[in-house]
Amino acid sequence: LGLMPSGLGKVFFADSGSVAVEVALKMALQCQRGRGEAQRTRFLTPRGGYHGDTFGAMSVCDPVTGMHSLFTAALPRQIFMERPACRFDQPFDPSSLDDARRLLAAHGPEVAAVILEPVVQGAGGMWFYHPDYLRGLADLCREAGALLILDEIATGFGRTGKMFAAEWAGICPDILCCGKALTGGILTLAATACTDSVAEDICRHNGVLMHGPTFMANALACAVAGASLDLLAENAWPEQVAGLEATLRAGLAPCAAEPDVADVRVLGAIGVVETRRPVHTARLQRYFVERGVWLRPFNRLIYIMPPYNTPPEDAARLCAAVRGALREGAHRP
Ligand SMILES: *Cc1c(COP(=O)(O)O)cnc(C)c1O
Repeated sequence: LGLMPSGLGKVFFADSGSVAVEVALKMALQCQRGRGEAQRTRFLTPRGGYHGDTFGAMSVCDPVTGMHSLFTAALPRQIFMERPACRFDQPFDPSSLDDARRLLAAHGPEVAAVILEPVVQGAGGMWFYHPDYLRGLADLCREAGALLILDEIATGFGRTGKMFAAEWAGICPDILCCGKALTGGILTLAATACTDSVAEDICRHNGVLMHGPTFMANALACAVAGASLDLLAENAWPEQVAGLEATLRAGLAPCAAEPDVADVRVLGAIGVVETRRPVHTARLQRYFVERGVWLRPFNRLIYIMPPYNTPPEDAARLCAAVRGALREGAHRP
């Protein structure tokens, strides 16, 4: 809690990111019930999101790239708004909030919470949007009586250059999920934090948060998380992430000149090359492995998310492999 945006006062440990999202959805529903708003049972979320593979989490993933087509009939029906259109690195366009405003006006009284990944949409498209979108959305949520859930499972613990991506917008959500880097990717553990006010409203109705499977707050996983967070502090992550950002920027910039490349973007320790057409994943991965590089491209995205202690020469080698692949056409079928 000490590392998170100030305002979050309670934390619940879960055994994976997907479960942390389930817990966040339950928190929102129980909180609204405690506030006498039991009719608020739906969630509003932007297209292009990814929140995990369990049923509640799946229901708020992008309806096209998520697994909706397989499970449509069994999934709760949520409300989808346009992907935040305004790029991170361009002036903010207030009209990018129009769809959120429209849908909250139309569905306001049934919306328990808005859930989204702050600033970086990860597995749903590796898309970086403007922090002012988040700030505006937080205001719209407050006006509509909907909670704001930020899924920081991919962005938390420094990945975007801030400890949590919410800091780019200077906001504190009602509920925040983290996972992945919490244990440095060593053991499965995640957490869902909320404000004291949300916790009090949950307890008003039922007394407790209704979630408690066997391995919540597993002691071994918590010990690993403690050790990993100590390492994060000792290793001076802001310098590491800034160094990686500079290396990725310099190393990937030349890709923009390739005819098959639609966009190159870098934020913190995340470097993305977006191609015009889906890449041939198997062929491209073989090319990388032959050069001693392990990357996992998907759809129209070749991305690099290295560990923070990656030496600059290794990061440069990753970028060189991406440049080489695009130059030699290893991404084409
Ligand atoms: C990975 C991820 C999840 C799911 O976490 P798991 O630990 O894989 O269940 C949820 N949300 C985001 C943003 C993620 O990147």
